Amino acid sequence: MKRRKQRLEDNCPRCKEPHEHLLHVLVCKDSNTGAFRKGEEEEFQIWLQKENIEPNLERFLTLGLQSWIDDPMGREPEYVVHSQKWEKAVTTQVNLGWYAFLCGFVVAKPLIDIQHDHYLELQLKKKAERWAIKLIHKSWNIMYQLWTQRNTALHETDAIHENSGVALLKAAIMREYELGINNLPRVYSQNFTQTLENILEKSVTQQKQWFLVIRSGKEGMILDSFSDEDALRHWIGLTPR
Ligand SMILES: [Zn+2]
Repeated sequence: MKRRKQRLEDNCPRCKEPHEHLLHVLVCKDSNTGAFRKGEEEEFQIWLQKENIEPNLERFLTLGLQSWIDDPMGREPEYVVHSQKWEKAVTTQVNLGWYAFLCGFVVAKPLIDIQHDHYLELQLKKKAERWAIKLIHKSWNIMYQLWTQRNTALHETDAIHENSGVALLKAAIMREYELGINNLPRVYSQNFTQTLENILEKSVTQQKQWFLVIRSGKEGMILDSFSDEDALRHWIGLTPR
């Protein structure tokens, strides 16, 4: 968003860390996000068990994912490797990485072989290939849910306003108020009947409206961030320069 100048800042709307990127969206350390993600992980584990997943495979997938979320740059946990088939499955998936796993890159063949043998052992008629497809959908869904949760935090709280320059807006309103009606036509005087405190206590949307009205009347007369910063002008509703 920042590169295209749609928003002034690109802080994470949840933990406020600067320069939010997709990896951060998935592993953000904000406590509400952590709780939400925990729920997703639990739901994933319950689904794996419902699908009669081979128990060591369940451990591998849940432990690997959990450890990556805790520290994406850290070391892989120790996995118990039971056979050559296991070795291949673990090594290949670990080389691909857990970020890739959430993007749907699952080392299908080795995992399918393990799950296939397990279904045979349990004398179930389920197809391991079908299970692998559902596993990929499941990993996509985790990614999608985390993305949606982040968007909700951005758009349904004041976070988008904070990123768009709410601090600059308040400072600009204070200055406009200080300058007062000045050279503006009398019709604007009603905007100065309320106290500055009242204006600053209003919702961000109302503050934007107040500032838009005043500034539109003074376009070209004042030079500040709102006169030369496209992202801010777009946010307030001023016409592009
Ligand atoms: Zn964050």
